[in-house]
Amino acid sequence: MTIELRSAPLVEQELEKLTSKCELLKSKGVTPSMKVILVGQIKASVIYTKNKKKFCERFGADCEIINLDESINEQDFVDAVKKISENKSVHGCFVQLPLPSHLSHIDPGALIDPNKDVDGFHEHNIGELFKGDPKSKFLMPCTPQGVLGTLNYYNFPVEGKNIVIIGRSLIVGKPLALLLLNNNATVTVCHSRTTDLKEHTKRADIIISAVGKPRFLTADYLNENGKQVLVDVGINHDENGKLCGDLDYENLLGRCQAITPVPGGVGPLTILSLAQNLLQAAENSL
Ligand code: NAD
Repeated sequence: MTIELRSAPLVEQELEKLTSKCELLKSKGVTPSMKVILVGQIKASVIYTKNKKKFCERFGADCEIINLDESINEQDFVDAVKKISENKSVHGCFVQLPLPSHLSHIDPGALIDPNKDVDGFHEHNIGELFKGDPKSKFLMPCTPQGVLGTLNYYNFPVEGKNIVIIGRSLIVGKPLALLLLNNNATVTVCHSRTTDLKEHTKRADIIISAVGKPRFLTADYLNENGKQVLVDVGINHDENGKLCGDLDYENLLGRCQAITPVPGGVGPLTILSLAQNLLQAAENSL
């Protein structure tokens, strides 16, 4: 039988830890405070930012959504982000992506103080991830952190495992490869130019898909041993507008040892990691 790796129990467990950590920080005179910068009113982004605010409030942190007009010019946008990041009472901030097309060439992570970069996208934080010093208290990219958190929580340690990541983006595939490598996995990163993807996925103990194509990974990418663990990072909509991941979930059940569903799998852990980064940033500020 395939185990479903749902995020809810992990989120509940971590919320308790976040609440007590937040109380401890408040007792030291620091109320963790996050600013979310939203440009325009893209429906999905409005929902994501509200969810992030609600989540922060659940464990006692402050979170404000700062809405900038969709037509804001480049200079005003850059100035606004820098001003928010420089505010001493702010411990964490990030820009909700995507940006409108006239701003999409800007790397917002680069505008934010690396000590407040709760998304973990600033090159300082990526550099720390690259170095992999376990003692470093840098802010880690959220989705990779959520993937590793899921595997650990459900007792699938990555050490020594052959892990195939499909996707090499800056926000998922590449940082995830580094994080898993730092945790002693043997990592293969596949992508759109990989020849014979199935040859790689069939050899993997763990397959992590971050492609962004509905039900891309079908049963013929798996081997026959039924022991593979599948993690779905994809958030897609199928031809009927239904939310789905990269994995052909229904047809993979029973053919693997464990699988993350969409929704209810890795997605909510990105918000959890953001919250963990906020408290780490607040703690680092003491
Ligand atoms: P992206 O478009 O930047 O990257 C997609 C990657 O897939 C690329 O590296 C590309 O080489 C690879 N790819 C495309 N077609 C392929 C093929 N046929 N074979 C092998 N590889 C192929 O996307 P992204 O930003 O990394 O996001 C990927 C997915 O993850 C999306 O569905 C996105 O919505 C989702 N996502 C989820 C979270 C979360 O919180 N769970 C966070 C970020 C992204």
